[in-house]
Order: sequence, then C-alpha cells, then structure tokens
Amino acid sequence: MTRIRTLYELQLIDTQIARLEAALAALDDGTTLRGRVQQAHAVEETARSDLQAGQARLRDLELELQSTVGKATKVEGDLYSGRISNPKELRAMQEDVEALGRQRQRIEEEMLTLMEEVERQLEQIRRLEAERQARDRELDEHLEDYTTRQRALTAELEAARRHREALAAEADPGFLRRYERLRSRKDGVAVTAVNGSVCNACHMTVPEAVLNAARESDDVHTCEDCGRILYVPNE
Ligand SMILES: [Zn+2]
Repeated sequence: MTRIRTLYELQLIDTQIARLEAALAALDDGTTLRGRVQQAHAVEETARSDLQAGQARLRDLELELQSTVGKATKVEGDLYSGRISNPKELRAMQEDVEALGRQRQRIEEEMLTLMEEVERQLEQIRRLEAERQARDRELDEHLEDYTTRQRALTAELEAARRHREALAAEADPGFLRRYERLRSRKDGVAVTAVNGSVCNACHMTVPEAVLNAARESDDVHTCEDCGRILYVPNE
C-alpha cells in the first residue's frame, strides 16, 4: 500500500470511528421512559393509598353501625319489655330510639357513598395498573433493544480501533503527524479522495497539474481550496 493510500485508509477508519462514537452517544438509555414508569408507579401508589383510606373508613363505619344497631336493639328491648312504666322515662327512651335511628341512617348513607367511591377507586386502580404494566413492558423492551444496539456498536467500535491502530503503525510517521494536525483542524477530515477531478470534500475542481503530481508521486499533495490531502484512486 502506498503511503497516501495508507493515510486514506486511516481516514476512512477514523470517519467510521467518529460515526460509531456518535451513534453510541446518541443511544437513548431509557431515561425518558424510566421517568414515565416512575410517574406511573407514583400515580398508582397514590390511588392505592386513597383506596386503603376509603376501605379503612368503611370498616370504622361498619363498627359504628353495629354499635348503633346494638344500642337501638337494647333500648327497644327495654322499651317494649313492660318493665318500665314511667311515661317520662318511656318518652326519653323513645327519643333515644329515634335518635339512634337517625344516626343509623346517617351512617348507612355515608357507607353507601363510600362504597360507590371504593368501587370507582378499584376500577381506576385496575386501569392505572394496566397502564403502569404497559409502561414497564415498554421500558423493558426499550432496554433490551438498547443493550443489543450498544453491544453491537461497541464491538464494531473496538474492531475499528484495532484496525486503526494497525494502520497507524504502518503509516509514515511524518505523514501521520501531518494527518493528525490536519484532521483536528478540518473537522475530522484530513484526507479526501478525488472524484474524477473534483475534491470530494469541498467539491472544487483540482487543477490538472496537481492531479498529475499526485498520481506520479507518493507524496502529500493538498487541495488548493480546502487544504486537505488528496488521494487520487487508480482509474
Ligand atoms: Zn478540497
């Protein structure tokens, strides 16, 4: 391989390495999806604790109801036992029974409202759970895909770097230094092929004399317009 051809090969592999590095850096590691998953979990958790609060209140009301019914039964039992004949006392007991009846009604109404609420919350939780599971699956699938791509790109990059190292060892040391300096100044492209008589990098026409010189000697010839090293493929 000629010295210029080696530089050109080096350029190709460096361009490939830059492309692979950019592709690796651009891979989405799932940050956005992970945020959505966490949000879905948080929303579901809130709904579950609301449900638990509702269910706990319902249990309290059930106990309250039992106690109220128990009290009413007892007062009614006394009232109709015939043991008490004092009208004042009987009236007071009658009022107690009525008050307990109103209390019972109030509790039962609250329980009914709460049961509807709990039913609604259960339905909402089923929906949130399904959404959250869909988000979880979405993230899992994304991460699987991400890992596959990342492994493939990393393997490709490692191979390209090994190839690059071998080429750099083959290159003329003086040419290589010049190549590196030019590459850092020229946006990563130090060597460009000539297509017909046009510079592939800047698309300007390369003078015939320069082309001929580049064909005839294995030295560095640069594009007069963009300053890059010219590689003229054999026709
Ligand atoms: Zn050029």
